[in-house]
Amino acid sequence: MLRLDGATVRFGARAVLDAVDLEVADHETVCVLGPSGSGKSTLLRAVAGLQALDAGRVLLDGADQAGVPTHRRGVGLMFQDHQLFPQRDVGGNVAFGLRMRGDGKTERSERVRELLDLVGLPGAGRRSVAALSGGEQQRVALARALAPRPRLLMLDEPLGQLDRGLRERLVVELRQLFGRLGTTVLAVTHDQGEAFALADRVVVMRDGRIAQSGTPVEVWRRPASEFVARFLGFDN
Ligand code: ATP
Ligand code: MG
Repeated sequence: MLRLDGATVRFGARAVLDAVDLEVADHETVCVLGPSGSGKSTLLRAVAGLQALDAGRVLLDGADQAGVPTHRRGVGLMFQDHQLFPQRDVGGNVAFGLRMRGDGKTERSERVRELLDLVGLPGAGRRSVAALSGGEQQRVALARALAPRPRLLMLDEPLGQLDRGLRERLVVELRQLFGRLGTTVLAVTHDQGEAFALADRVVVMRDGRIAQSGTPVEVWRRPASEFVARFLGFDN
């Protein structure tokens, strides 16, 4: 599905992504963990085409994405600060990507209804986004990202602004949802509990490089370095 080949992004002299190789298989959920500034968001932005590479390649289903604009990559993105459009109602937010690609009105409203059911907000299409709780807004952002049926869904701290109880519930729901839809997911999180609950595979980043990649159990049981062990909160 997704392959990064030596993907490199430099800001000045510093490589924020440093020759990253990464593969995400169809239907796999990969969670990227790492300290602040390690390059997690840059990685997602590079895959989405919002950040040009200085070296290396991004391939989606085998096709090099160099020069392919974001809206033609078939990826869905949910940002760290999910940024709903406050002047549009819930339905207008969810339909945004569908409108962009020219779906008709009937098609759009059917898809919106389907998605709001899916994320547990049935009948909310006409509600104002300003009047929603943080958790509800995050569900709307998720529905918006899923609406065009992206081949790859990328989430940057999708539950970042929620309290712990709600996060834990939503993680379980998301895992079930992605399983049911067969969605391929690349998600960034600070929270290792969240990553371990959501992911088939965990990738730990440090200074623009991949420090370790493995199943949650592998990474947990056998951290590849002292950095990973310390990041996971083990004392020796
Ligand atoms: P966080 O967990 O805080 O979101 P992150 O792992 O997502 O961190 P990135 O946003 O990918 O980190 O940023 C990696 C590094 O690149 C940071 O040091 C950041 O300051 C730097 N950086 C990001 N975008 C730019 C830019 N446009 N110009 C210069 N430096 C940048
Ligand atoms: Mg980030």
